[in-house]
Amino acid sequence: MLKNDQLDQWDRENFFHPSTHLAQHARGESPSRVIKTASGVHIEDRDGNKLLDAFAGLYCVNAGYGRREITDAIAAQAQELAYYHSYVGHGTEASITLSKMILDRAPANMSKVYFGLGGSDANETNIKLVWYYNNILGRPEKKKIISRWRGYHGSGIVTGSLTGLELFHKKFDLPIEQVKHTMAPDFFRRDDLSQTEEQFTAACVADLEELIAREGADTIAGFIGEPVLGTGGIVPPPKGYWPAIQAVLKKHDILLIVDEVVTGFGRLGTMFGSDKYGLEADIITIAKGLTSAYAPLSGSIIGERMWKVLEQGTDENGPIGHGWTYSAHPIGAAAGVANLKLIDDLDLVANAGSVGAYLNSSMKEALADHPHVGDVRGEGLLCAVEFVKDKDSRTFFDPADKIGAQVSATMLAQDKVIARAMPQADMLGFAPPFCLSRDEVDTIVAATARAVKTVLGS
Ligand code: PLP
Repeated sequence: MLKNDQLDQWDRENFFHPSTHLAQHARGESPSRVIKTASGVHIEDRDGNKLLDAFAGLYCVNAGYGRREITDAIAAQAQELAYYHSYVGHGTEASITLSKMILDRAPANMSKVYFGLGGSDANETNIKLVWYYNNILGRPEKKKIISRWRGYHGSGIVTGSLTGLELFHKKFDLPIEQVKHTMAPDFFRRDDLSQTEEQFTAACVADLEELIAREGADTIAGFIGEPVLGTGGIVPPPKGYWPAIQAVLKKHDILLIVDEVVTGFGRLGTMFGSDKYGLEADIITIAKGLTSAYAPLSGSIIGERMWKVLEQGTDENGPIGHGWTYSAHPIGAAAGVANLKLIDDLDLVANAGSVGAYLNSSMKEALADHPHVGDVRGEGLLCAVEFVKDKDSRTFFDPADKIGAQVSATMLAQDKVIARAMPQADMLGFAPPFCLSRDEVDTIVAATARAVKTVLGS
């Protein structure tokens, strides 16, 4: 077996890590960790450290680690048929079964599933299909896509543009021209502190209306949003937000893409975030929880009204010019079938709802009164704690102090609990596997409270 110092050297010499300070990593200045194995909600590194993963990888290992039901299904599929493509009508039992399982769980009026590999490529597919749709309908000008500041939709060229975080644009010449951003629906961070939640929602709607008026509704094809803002800070929508936004989109004939990469398959305690907020999507993006990350697989669930136009398009133009070699990869599909079945068998969506409610209420109880905790918020098994320098004036810390990162590093060092320092600001994010127990919630909350006390005082 290779020694850790050998692996560390090879890592720094050869491996280009995503979302990493490349220069610091190559110089050996930043921490690195080699993960060896995992089980339930714990991961274990090569030094034998067992860590409670309260972010489920990147909010994706929803069924929990080490599930034999899924790994056995992957092994069986790999042995029977590791690969065949899904072009021109080919499929496998796994990919066809999984399409049906997804549509059986999806909100009403969804029609077909296209499979990709990850959330970014699924959203890339979605935008192409929206453009195709409007070309088939004879409105070639209707192409722009509205996204929200602080939304996260991937890091490709189109999807990095949709993502409303500066880090993903800076020095990459993004966003592209066809993507426009509207206000982040974050009530805690509203500019005008005198606004009520209802007034803030009205301001979000007005901002969208103004953007549409400025650009011209006949140039706007689609709107993309996560039911709950994820990477942008784990922010549930303010009261009345989604019904009001949907009314605007309907009025201007703008398609709705609901990005459920994080929320799909149970994270909010409902099968989809769309169920929770009454969203009527034209396309739903799925990834992460589809296979609990046991294999890379994503999907675009296409609604009835779009599907009819896509069929019309191929009658007029021939086969759709879109596809990946690995679309509906049999191993990913087998992982998806086993994962969705396991989630049902163990009633994990209900557990995400009830244990998630306990996580959120316990975190509030432990931390909401702390002088440097400005907000504790969440929904289902998503929770965030946001830090402030001064609570009454809602003044934030200097980003250079990296308070969020300090608290998460302290949690890891003191109690071996992983929470994610969200990239946007001084926020800690929690998104554990759905099999989390109440005792494990208590461990996470105690570790957070202790680290907050260590870094920021009592
Ligand atoms: N959409 C959302 C809501 C996400 O959170 C993510 C990733 O975190 C993506 C899309 C992109 O997915 P991927 O990283 O698999 O490309």
